[in-house]
Amino acid sequence: MGSMTHAAGRAAFSTALDVTLKNLNKKPEGEIVKLIDLMQKYMDGEKIDIDYDKAKQMVLDQDGTLNKYIHRLLDEVDPYVLKMTALTLGYEAFFHGTKTIRKMREVQKCNIPWLILMDPTSACNLHCTGCWAAEYGNRLNLTFKEMDDIITQGKELGIYFYMFTGGEPLVRRDDILRLCEKHHDCAFLAYTNGTLVNEPLCQEMVKLGNLYLAISLEGFSEVNDLRRGTGVFEKVMHAMDLLKEYGLIFGTSICYTSQNIETVTSDEFIDLIVEKGCRYSLYFHYMPVGNDAAVELLPTKEQREYIYEKLKENDIFSRRYFYPLTSDEVCFKNKYIKQDLQKARYYSDRILVLPLYADLKNEEVERIVDVIRKNL
Ligand code: SF4
Repeated sequence: MGSMTHAAGRAAFSTALDVTLKNLNKKPEGEIVKLIDLMQKYMDGEKIDIDYDKAKQMVLDQDGTLNKYIHRLLDEVDPYVLKMTALTLGYEAFFHGTKTIRKMREVQKCNIPWLILMDPTSACNLHCTGCWAAEYGNRLNLTFKEMDDIITQGKELGIYFYMFTGGEPLVRRDDILRLCEKHHDCAFLAYTNGTLVNEPLCQEMVKLGNLYLAISLEGFSEVNDLRRGTGVFEKVMHAMDLLKEYGLIFGTSICYTSQNIETVTSDEFIDLIVEKGCRYSLYFHYMPVGNDAAVELLPTKEQREYIYEKLKENDIFSRRYFYPLTSDEVCFKNKYIKQDLQKARYYSDRILVLPLYADLKNEEVERIVDVIRKNL
């Protein structure tokens, strides 16, 4: 299979997935191990960040977290959504994407990211305290064509994973659904406040199978609604119930501060989101932006260590080095130890992040790319 074309590899993987999903009642672990073997063959010796033997062991270990996670996915997630996830995130983005990106890095002589994050709109239906979205309002929007162009060009470079943030991306629900339909070989994740999730959206998401959500939460209702607005917590709980009922894949996006860090890592909170059907949880370090930003909300070094250890207790592994560590801004000074800064710089030097704002001109993107090329 090593010399197989992209299309033939996808067809083989798709057929193997059908067999896996049909035989789930018998022995899912064995079928999943066969899929891992298939992908190892497809990668044809090309090195990736996976230890195939260890992955197989983890799948087969009936007391292990991965095994339990897989069983829960198989029991609770819609089979078509599962198949599309394995095809888009697994086959296209991870395996085929990795191969293509590596080739294209040589051709283009610059780094190529494995995912692109864009803001379809600055508009939002909420008015959370301290958020810039209210100031920008509905002024900034990427057109469908612009987003479609970005994805079409991205795929040529091997990028099959796209994230939407905002504003509230689901304000542009119809365009997002069109993009997911047109680019059904890609995976899409929207960071959302969750308040626009309803039955018609869930029905569309089940049909497409390649759109996932990360719903913002800051704690239980009292803390969450203080900044986000009365009743938002309940709306998020309702959205999660609907998404779970439809067998969709979603998770949370949690901004942790010096104030809410203990709540959002507590057993009670994690049990709640697991029970609600969340499959992943993305924790983001609070970033003070602008002159009036509340610097006191920045987590301390001890709190960062605490969150790392606390998540690990729940088998959740996070990266130790967060974005703020790469910054020399005054508000970060004396907050972190010097060694951490060096390590963080090492990693950040290897990650390319290009801003894709609605009012960013093409010439500006060209200029940024040019600067990167010259400095490589
Ligand atoms: S939901 Fe997000 S984008 Fe909307 S106002 Fe709140 S923080 Fe801002």
